[in-house]
Amino acid sequence: MHRRRPDAQRWSLRVDPPWSLDAWRGAAREALLRGLSPEQLDWLESSAGSLLDAPAATQAPLLETPSVPHVPSAFLELASTCLCHADAQPMPLLYRLLWRIVHGERALLSNPTDADVLRAMTMAQAVRRDTHKMKAFVRFREIPGEQDAFIAWFEPQHRIVDRVAAFFARRFAGMRWAILTPYRSVHWDGQALSFGAGGHREQAPAEDARETLWQTYYASIFNPARLNTRMMQQEMPARYWRHLPEAQLLPGLIRDAGDRVQAMHDRPAQPPQRRIPSRRATSPVPSPSSDLATLQRQAAGCRQCPLWESTTQVVFGEGPGDARVMLVGEQPGDTEDLCGRPFAGPAGALLDRALSELGIARSALYLTNAVKHFHHERRGKVRLHKRPQGRHVQACRPWLLGEIERVRPEIIVCLGATAASAVFGSHFSLTRDRARWHTLPDGTRGSATVHPAWVLRQADEVRREDAYRLFRDDLRQLLIGDAESTGRRPALPPTSEG
Ligand code: SF4
Repeated sequence: MHRRRPDAQRWSLRVDPPWSLDAWRGAAREALLRGLSPEQLDWLESSAGSLLDAPAATQAPLLETPSVPHVPSAFLELASTCLCHADAQPMPLLYRLLWRIVHGERALLSNPTDADVLRAMTMAQAVRRDTHKMKAFVRFREIPGEQDAFIAWFEPQHRIVDRVAAFFARRFAGMRWAILTPYRSVHWDGQALSFGAGGHREQAPAEDARETLWQTYYASIFNPARLNTRMMQQEMPARYWRHLPEAQLLPGLIRDAGDRVQAMHDRPAQPPQRRIPSRRATSPVPSPSSDLATLQRQAAGCRQCPLWESTTQVVFGEGPGDARVMLVGEQPGDTEDLCGRPFAGPAGALLDRALSELGIARSALYLTNAVKHFHHERRGKVRLHKRPQGRHVQACRPWLLGEIERVRPEIIVCLGATAASAVFGSHFSLTRDRARWHTLPDGTRGSATVHPAWVLRQADEVRREDAYRLFRDDLRQLLIGDAESTGRRPALPPTSEG
């Protein structure tokens, strides 16, 4: 399709402006349609002609069956970057690459060891680096006498103004500005970009009022202890310093850095100005002399574990301070956390139902939990119960023991495995030891059954009823039946509520 013509005849192609991909692409297309090889072409940058120039390539005859080849997008991307390179002539190189691609080397760009590819990649990298530096180091100065109008002077290494203009238009969309460079200028009027000829450094204001402010700020944030001049020169090469107001300060800041670090080193240590709170130091622990009400007040400020952080309040036990029976649950739930009372939610309602059926007054019991804050996980607006971990139970145990010591119940019935492990220790197995009596070191008798929340979690109505009967029968055995079978004094008096 693209056969070569004899190399003897030379042709010229003009690309204006030379960094424009569209301009170069149009010229390259004309050459391909005529089958002109890279060796036959002179690539010219300016539109001004010369008598010595070869005839324009558009005068060469078209191929018999001219066609426009499809070119990989990666090549166009590479070409648009390379064309901005100022030092090396990218146009002949790009046409050579294009010629090779359309003549069978479709995967040419994936061969980084090819000399042409390597050269193009190196050019593109230099342009990209310069683009990055221009974005970072352009400094606008206010135009005297005009409002919200700014000019910046910058000397890029490559012809990148068109390439970066859109970036500045987005970044400084709300002000009017111009960037002058030696070869080209760009202007933004708040609506559109326009490009013009290059300018001179003197056309941009030398400095403005903000500059002093910026220098003061820069000097205040300059940390001599973190100075790394090698890294600084890599990131901010000296050739860009002339664009940066802060650069005037750098020699002095760098010179004084050693002395300032030494002075910092010699200065006596200062205590931190902001007090760093220590949770453990400020968190109250049960005091031996406090009564139940004081204990409750102390627990409200407890920070011994993280559970307090995401809850509404501590949920302490409630009931007579001399109750003969203490029921210990696992932890407060969502309702309890909000209202501050134990067994106030659905599980508490089930407990109430069982107590009512057994003829036991809730008001005769001291009800509490092994853990006093609500452990949960948030899912949207819902707080889902999470079983407290062993460390939470351990951290909270002093409050439970404090309640037991002050109420001194005759019997303790734990509801669920967590409560049982808090009272009897981690060796307790609810499956094995349910509804059996144990004697605590102080002589108090204790046992355990399931938690009413476990009853509610059963999969269907039949299982829930079975589980409920088990729960209620355990309570009957532990709170009433035991006294009947042993002749002990009943732990609970009959109630008129039942
Ligand atoms: S859960 Fe218990 S230990 Fe943890 S902060 Fe609350 S009261 Fe203190």
